[in-house]
Amino acid sequence: MDEIIIRDLQVYAHHGVYQQETEKGQNFLVSAVLETDTRAAGMTDDLGLSTNYGVVCRFLNAYFTEHTFKLIETAAERTAEALLLQFPRVRAVTLEIKKPEAPIPFPFGMVSVKIRRGWRRAYIACGSNIGDKRAHLDSAVAALRDDEQCRVIRVSDWIETTPYGGVVQANYLNGALAIDTLYPPEVLLSRLQEIERAEARERKERWGPRTLDLDILLYEDVVMEDEKLTIPHRDMKNRDFVLEPLAQIAPYEKHPILGKCILELMEEVVQNGEKHALS
Ligand code: ATP
Ligand code: CA
Ligand code: CA
Repeated sequence: MDEIIIRDLQVYAHHGVYQQETEKGQNFLVSAVLETDTRAAGMTDDLGLSTNYGVVCRFLNAYFTEHTFKLIETAAERTAEALLLQFPRVRAVTLEIKKPEAPIPFPFGMVSVKIRRGWRRAYIACGSNIGDKRAHLDSAVAALRDDEQCRVIRVSDWIETTPYGGVVQANYLNGALAIDTLYPPEVLLSRLQEIERAEARERKERWGPRTLDLDILLYEDVVMEDEKLTIPHRDMKNRDFVLEPLAQIAPYEKHPILGKCILELMEEVVQNGEKHALS
């Protein structure tokens, strides 16, 4: 990705652990590498199609002087998040915060903290088979749209499907969403569970009836497994009711373990697997 680079913007601010630091203040140097596509602006010479680095510098200065953090780690974390929320064309930012006058009783060149944060693409499966199924799924999309840490990129059709896993219950409405999010995977899962609870989801039996089920299918190319969260979703390759809507919004997205794209996985399950999608 292209980069817009701001190096060593000097800001007088009040971050620090010691009283003298928060009272008197000191100089900080802020560097930001903004990952963004500059091609449209480059081709047209139109600043409106880019991110104005002057405005970014003013923003960094304001954010840095209006807040006080003990740690430059926190200053970096919060500033990166605020910047990503403020400048929609910036996909990721590497932020380095230098503290040239840090209270260290030895001669030193520089101390700094450097982090990279950005929007991450995730795919979510959604399903409902109690009450107004369509309304439950629509509410989930609305809740994600209302969450500033998420951007809903694509929404599949909702398709009617027969239940999976052997429990006798009503048919489902299933779909898939593409979102960009600032949440790390564990936090995204908690957020999705919060949205499920808002739709009166009760957790009784696995694969039993539910007002709303939101599962993380893919999160960038992350592969992880712990007691709470497995990514990619462990069973997605066996589920036509997941792969069919997902193929609608992300046919060529690759499964990071199986090395196949969603369309290929869907064709495999259609040929060899159980059929649940009614369309
Ligand atoms: P399945 O996960 O097979 O579709 P389910 O959705 O019916 O079954 P739930 O009762 O909704 O299962 O969730 C059980 C647990 O699965 C959750 O508490 C969560 O911690 C865990 N889990 C593991 N990986 C994921 C994932 N990728 N997305 C959502 N939940 C997950
Ligand atoms: Ca599920
Ligand atoms: Ca679930």
